[in-house]
Amino acid sequence: MAIRKLLVANRGEIAVRIIRAARELGIRTVAVHSLADADSLAVRMADEAVNIGPPAASKSYLNIAAVLAAARDTGADAIHPGYGFLAENAEFADAVEAAGLVWVGPRGDTIRVMGDKVAARIAAEAAGVPVVPGSAGRIDDPEQARAVALAIGFPLMIKAAAGGGGRGIRIVHDIAEFERMVPQASAEARAAFADGGLYLEKVIGQARHVEVQILGDGERAIHLFERECSLQRRRQKVWEEAPSPALPPGMRETLCRSAVALAESVGYRGAGTLEYLFDDATGHFYFIEMNTRIQVEHPVTEMITGVDLVREMIRIAGGEKLRFAQADIAMKGHAIEVRICAEDPSRNFQPGPGTISGLVVPGGAGVRFDTMLYQGYTVPPFYDSLLGKLIVWDEDRPAALRRMARALDELQVGGLPTTKPLHQLLVRDSAVAQAAFHTRWLEPWLEGNAHLLGAREASE
Ligand code: ADP
Ligand code: ADP
Ligand code: MG
Repeated sequence: MAIRKLLVANRGEIAVRIIRAARELGIRTVAVHSLADADSLAVRMADEAVNIGPPAASKSYLNIAAVLAAARDTGADAIHPGYGFLAENAEFADAVEAAGLVWVGPRGDTIRVMGDKVAARIAAEAAGVPVVPGSAGRIDDPEQARAVALAIGFPLMIKAAAGGGGRGIRIVHDIAEFERMVPQASAEARAAFADGGLYLEKVIGQARHVEVQILGDGERAIHLFERECSLQRRRQKVWEEAPSPALPPGMRETLCRSAVALAESVGYRGAGTLEYLFDDATGHFYFIEMNTRIQVEHPVTEMITGVDLVREMIRIAGGEKLRFAQADIAMKGHAIEVRICAEDPSRNFQPGPGTISGLVVPGGAGVRFDTMLYQGYTVPPFYDSLLGKLIVWDEDRPAALRRMARALDELQVGGLPTTKPLHQLLVRDSAVAQAAFHTRWLEPWLEGNAHLLGAREASE
């Protein structure tokens, strides 16, 4: 069904990103928003806007009935969920389709399999993709869980089957700690994700986070190469790049082909990402999870391939077949994205919402800034702290690093603290220049460089 009016069930920079893609496709847009977001850029940009409830996400952006009512009232014929919120909620996907609307994402059944981290591990193994050694399924029985933990060995990770956004993961070092943590982890997972299911994984020591972008139309899938997102704090990405600086070409081919095989094995429709840990000491890679949605860091892939991923996912949802063969996708140059968040790196990344009192957006060749900021905008305290993503492209990685340094120096966000100073240090760091990092590199680096970030006591 050709989409004529798209409702964007999200907020912030990703709502703006989706509205832009829809407009280029000649599709009208509806922004739904909470009371706290009435002045948002997405609301200003969309053709229509509907207030769907109070600031708390549970009463607005997560309120399925309110989102569906807004679609009905505005005559929208499709819904794009963005990332976070309802993006990986299979019941929502089903409800959208049951209401006769187009869902811009994979079928609800695909989300049920690939969005559940345990079911996805099983699907990966069935498609011949290596997974991190761990429990075969959920650990429900305490006796059996203990036996599995001892067999895997320590340290190991207890992970929530429904986890996401770096939450729902803990490392345990011995069996006593394991037995203490399981009930607590399960209770927390139930509270956070409405699902107490847990599974276990061996900790892969100094691994890189490498993920493959795919696009599928339900029958055929292609990959758009990989991104590396090893610079993380609390298991959340802070800096992403494409391609991975650590992947030898042969390994890239194997990894990307494994992702396509897995996507095709589940008849994947839309944009998705398969995340892996890559151990460059041994050359082994292990599947960890799939994100059945557009990801925050999708622009770096757009910069090296020239494919507009959001536009393609809307086209596919509207019934078009994939417009590319694998051979049509080539990569050129290197792209880097840094997340600019309303957090104070000198105060342990304490969130600092506030009003934008000055804004200078970097520009020039190879520079893109995806943001919802405008002069005078007040960042509300209720949501994720992401303000924007600064993305650069250049011929190769050293040039991209220099361009990022230049663009960061141009960026000015007045009125609240941001993570720009962190990125200004990272972009000039010698280990970063050599891409000599892994997923547990940044946290000790932050401790060692606290003086450069002007660390202050929280009580000051
Ligand atoms: P990406 O995988 O796109 O890099 P993140 O892991 O940073 O994305 O998550 C994107 C956004 O979605 C963040 O705001 C994060 O808090 C949120 N998010 C992701 N997964 C979940 C989940 N299962 N439950 C709640 N929020 C989530
Ligand atoms: P989320 O759903 O929160 O994104 P992931 O399973 O993708 O959770 O893991 C988030 C991050 O945690 C990874 O990028 C990696 O840094 C770390 N991690 C996850 N599993 C393992 C593991 N088995 N060994 C080492 N690090 C891991
Ligand atoms: Mg992940």
